[in-house]
Amino acid sequence: MTIPKIVQHQKEAFRKGVTGSVEKRKDALVTLKKLLVENEKEICEAINTDFGKPYFEAFTSEIATVQHEIDHHLKHLHKWAKPDQAGNSIFTFPAKNLIYKKPYGTVLIIGAWNYPVNLTFQPLVGALSAGNTAVIKPSELAAQTSAIIKDLVEEYFSPSVLAVVEGAVEETQELLSQPFDKIFFTGSTRVGKIVMKAAAEQLIPVTLELGGKSPAIVHSDANIEIAAKRIWWGKTMNAGQICVAPDYALVHKSVKNQFVEKSREVLSQFFSNDYIPGENYTQIINHDHFDRLENLLEQSEVIHGGVTNKETRFIEPTLIQADWDSVIMKEEIFGPLLPLLTYESMDELKNKLIERSSPLALYLFTDSPKVESDIIDNVPFGGGCINETISHLANPNLPFGGVGHSGMGAYHGKHSFDCFTRLQSVLKKPTWPDPDFRYPPIDTDKLKWLKKLLR
Ligand code: NAD
Repeated sequence: MTIPKIVQHQKEAFRKGVTGSVEKRKDALVTLKKLLVENEKEICEAINTDFGKPYFEAFTSEIATVQHEIDHHLKHLHKWAKPDQAGNSIFTFPAKNLIYKKPYGTVLIIGAWNYPVNLTFQPLVGALSAGNTAVIKPSELAAQTSAIIKDLVEEYFSPSVLAVVEGAVEETQELLSQPFDKIFFTGSTRVGKIVMKAAAEQLIPVTLELGGKSPAIVHSDANIEIAAKRIWWGKTMNAGQICVAPDYALVHKSVKNQFVEKSREVLSQFFSNDYIPGENYTQIINHDHFDRLENLLEQSEVIHGGVTNKETRFIEPTLIQADWDSVIMKEEIFGPLLPLLTYESMDELKNKLIERSSPLALYLFTDSPKVESDIIDNVPFGGGCINETISHLANPNLPFGGVGHSGMGAYHGKHSFDCFTRLQSVLKKPTWPDPDFRYPPIDTDKLKWLKKLLR
């Protein structure tokens, strides 16, 4: 089927109610879970072929998290989908006020390559649970995974409910010209702007899950061992190719040496200096990205690490001495290089963070509630953790999304249901009483009464 035909077919099916009832939505979610459970091995192997993600990481981050999300929706969907009863207003009394939860219709989900299953299927859970039909476009950079997603979706789903379009820029541009009812995009800020421009042409609402440079702040009172462990855990997972990976470490000057020392210890504990791409460590996605990262490395002052292997697309987790003007501080790194910058005062720290565009995530290591609230109250960021990295994503009760250049809108759990739901307000008025007061002709007595009422 051509792209316009797929979309037209889904729109007709949506109008006929193919995803309308809560039961049908639950069936679709159960089917999606079955697809994941029955094909876990094939999916993890495809991801491993694409960029050497170890089975453990592929299972936990691509399969288990989506399964958990599905279970959460299955448990709560009945309640979420019910209309909410809203309070009354002095202007409308007496009346019943209801907020209906309506699906948008046919939605488009465009994914990034670094979590090729998660970033298409996790939003899809919200789309299906809210009662939409969906077209997903996985990233062409994880080609094996994109192909298996298409094959499995075609095996398990009717194209009237869910379809997959594979491809790169050309196919995505064609998709973006279709009359979708909502677009959910995960990817770079650069392409996010292209998506939003295209959506604006047809006034299609968008959710944009983008990237940026997420800082990990280590304050003078932090537990340095835990800070080093958790920062490197977040930086080495998927070889740092995560939108919410700690992009750089901002360490209080007084604890810099301790942080460097603990970083060395932690990395040797994690990998025993024996990195096996595909087994205990993820490869860089392709040679372009490998070259980009190697180029950054060549322009940097290495504190620890720095080994690379072009053939296996391996880059060692590397700690780098940097300052705000370093080349590596210009763009999102999206790889296992961690620049280390220092600060001396809270004001200096906050000013530097506020000057930059708001990150998708921020991590703060401190024991002080005062430092914690100072950062939370004054520095905008999408979401984050105190004394931890990345884990805020793993709780479906927390909305996940960016701010400014790191994105707009949020999802996960109920927020995914909301993300793919539009609210339809209905006021139901009894035919009695029907006082003349509001009807013309207007007069000064009526105005007097109205003012009294509002007092
Ligand atoms: P990308 O923006 O290059 O690609 C994302 C998607 O857009 C792909 O499906 C791709 O085919 C499509 N695309 C690329 N160029 C296009 C164009 N000119 N027109 C239309 N479509 C186009 O991003 P990527 O390299 O796949 O992923 C890395 C980026 O994504 C990083 O910036 C990262 O931070 C971000 N990211 C964000 C999240 C999040 O949840 N916020 C998650 C993962 C990745």
